[in-house]
Amino acid sequence: MREDLFIDGEWTPGSAGERTDVLDPATGAVVARMAAADEADVVRAVEAAKAAAPAWARVTAPERARILRRWYELIVENADDLATILTAEQGKPLAEARGEILYGAGFVEWYAEEGKRTYGDVIPANAAGRRLLAVRRPVGVSASITPWNFPSAMILRKAGPALAAGCPMIIKPAEETPLSATALAELGVRAGIPAGVLGVVSGEPAMIGEILTANPAVRALSFTGSTEVGKLLMAQSARTVKKVALELGGNAPLIVFDDADLDVAVAGAMASKFRNAGQTCVCANRILVQSGVHDAFVERLRVAVQALKVGNGFEEGSEQGPLISPAAVAKVERHIGDAVGGGATVLAGGGRHELGGTFFQPTLLTGVRPDMLISREETFGPVAPVIAFDTEDEAIAIANDTPFGLAAYFFTAGLGRMWRVGEALEFGVVGVNTGLISYEGAPFGGVKESGLGREGSRHGIDEFTELKYLCVDGV
Ligand code: NAD
Repeated sequence: MREDLFIDGEWTPGSAGERTDVLDPATGAVVARMAAADEADVVRAVEAAKAAAPAWARVTAPERARILRRWYELIVENADDLATILTAEQGKPLAEARGEILYGAGFVEWYAEEGKRTYGDVIPANAAGRRLLAVRRPVGVSASITPWNFPSAMILRKAGPALAAGCPMIIKPAEETPLSATALAELGVRAGIPAGVLGVVSGEPAMIGEILTANPAVRALSFTGSTEVGKLLMAQSARTVKKVALELGGNAPLIVFDDADLDVAVAGAMASKFRNAGQTCVCANRILVQSGVHDAFVERLRVAVQALKVGNGFEEGSEQGPLISPAAVAKVERHIGDAVGGGATVLAGGGRHELGGTFFQPTLLTGVRPDMLISREETFGPVAPVIAFDTEDEAIAIANDTPFGLAAYFFTAGLGRMWRVGEALEFGVVGVNTGLISYEGAPFGGVKESGLGREGSRHGIDEFTELKYLCVDGV
């Protein structure tokens, strides 16, 4: 386990020698004391990346692919150790942590290949003696700022395409979960990623964000986190007109229509809502159920919710770990309190779990209305709030009535409805008859205040390339 910063190909405690505790959310125990960067360390990381950028851009795409392929293989070979580190700092069940490692590794594998296909265009010329070309060039130094809920995958989703495109990347992981980042960097070194091409700086977020956004050498910023911080970083990046990719908060609706297969709908709702204890940007935040199947669906969902096994992520069979912090628990309690105060009914759970700490009971609420806090804000916890509706138009109106637009889900057997509702939902990612949609080969990202840009698929690499037009005359 690495507890130091990684700058210019070297592990360093940082110039100030400061450290911050990394806690196991399940026990509160200190699992590591992570080095905290000061201003000089961050500037040094940018300088190292800037110095490494031209050579990395010149490495041929197949050679970069070989290095990334090796990185992918090392991540997969070390998946158990990486999962252990992840669970220790984040709390999610070990099986889920392992799933995250393999999911993230998939982006490295996929972009290792895609880097060979950053094609341009040969454009028919507009005059005799001319040749017109459009080529994709690496944007230059990139930076990523990532959240604690997927400490490994959020980094690999960004570093895979950045490095494949020929861009160095400076990673600023969430302060709660820096150990997954350093572990990935260690494997990157072993894979042969050159010094300066990958850097990890952890520490005071606002200070690091300010330096990364102010520095003109950083040409692209890829951020995953809250909408509030995303807006701030976008404004800060305007000073040097960087490319910005933002994967921000969501408020996903999950709609169950009368004609849905209820077993499929319940399985989808459980997977979407309770994975990572409900701490995912794509998790169902509002469950809309049509009146004809409302009671039957709710009863099946209640049975599934009450069967969830809450426990330490390291315990065999644990399906829901702790929440990340006491503040996260307080937010969940506030949302439940507001809903119940407004007339909602608690059908399962509703409060802190007997395990104590930040463990919370899997919770099911009915009688929730669209104007309640729990419907308006991301709860980021294991609470399924059910809103009843009568018509398709009403469901679409409720679903779209949010400034967010990341993921949405709906369950139906109607072919026409799949198209109608799929097209009407104002979200970047829509799951039909499934609660799990992420895949490295598909474009992931939000509309409205959920973000800009896409991760995954051939589109994800665009965030790290610029289109350059060459007009050659006198041929
Ligand atoms: P957050 O915005 O507080 O933190 C995210 C990252 O930003 C962390 O690394 C943090 O240290 C950093 N940060 C905080 N303040 C900063 C500042 N002033 N300058 C620079 N960096 C700063 O979000 P969080 O609470 O850790 O994560 C949860 C949020 O992330 C949720 O809203 C969730 O929906 C969102 N999220 C989105 C996606 C997605 O793909 N759209 C994925 C996961 C999480």
